[in-house]
Amino acid sequence: MMNRISLKQMKLYGYTGCLSEEKENGQFFYVSIDMFCRDIPGALTDDLNDTINYADVYEIAEKIVEKSHFNLIEHLAHEIGRAVISKYDLADSVRVLVRKPDAPIDGEFDAMETEITVSRKDVIIGFGGNMGDREEKIRTALDMIRNNHALELVKVSSLYETEPVGYDDQDDFLNGCAVIRTYLEPLEVLHELQRIENELHRVRTIKNGPRTIDLDILMIPGVKMDTKELTIPHPRMYERAFVLVPLRELGLYYGPIPEDKSVKPYKNTDVV
Ligand code: AMP
Repeated sequence: MMNRISLKQMKLYGYTGCLSEEKENGQFFYVSIDMFCRDIPGALTDDLNDTINYADVYEIAEKIVEKSHFNLIEHLAHEIGRAVISKYDLADSVRVLVRKPDAPIDGEFDAMETEITVSRKDVIIGFGGNMGDREEKIRTALDMIRNNHALELVKVSSLYETEPVGYDDQDDFLNGCAVIRTYLEPLEVLHELQRIENELHRVRTIKNGPRTIDLDILMIPGVKMDTKELTIPHPRMYERAFVLVPLRELGLYYGPIPEDKSVKPYKNTDVV
């Protein structure tokens, strides 16, 4: 069961709307925010630092409504939800209802309204590398995830030493997988992982060849997608023992694993 903290019907003046007079003259909006939290430690401790400060939330919503000139209240609601969930780790999901009672429509109506929810999801990633100091690169990549405000590193498997697949003339890999929790969209997560890869100077010259660090999205529970840039689940994960073995260790995979004797537990378990 989720706990909830809500702010209802904040009356705020803003400039969102498709028509130029809406953007110029503005109008009143009513904004309601529900923040769902698995835990609210403040319920036990009675300490304001252990909960979501609704005065801050009011200010966040007020600033966004007053300063933005979006076309759609859907986008306005999304931006408010994003700003709140990114500020409060306690919130698992944030539901934002925006009402526009004076929407420019001829006729009688109560209000035009839209409701948008932003929520955190688990993203299961695979990582590996076989160039330079492999342990150091993996440790750095995981630290970069830990230090990324939008990503929470929840669980990391132990490491496995694996022989290369597809192109033999290269060193053995160190591989593992991890669970990240985030409110970012899948493509945004991919871009964050690619930024980390680039910062660690990943060099790619040969397909399936040596690499400093490779970060892939393996699965996101409940998400299936196949676009030019991103396929989820990862299209080759079920062929790769070096992905499935660490996934099984984390209790995230129970299916068959292709025979691959080259996937061995790595001696140093302190890396992660
Ligand atoms: P690689 O790093 O060799 O695994 O491949 C990277 C390329 O695969 C990038 O251009 C991504 O856009 C694309 N890609 C497709 N699906 C995924 C996924 N699930 N995780 C990571 N990269 C993906």
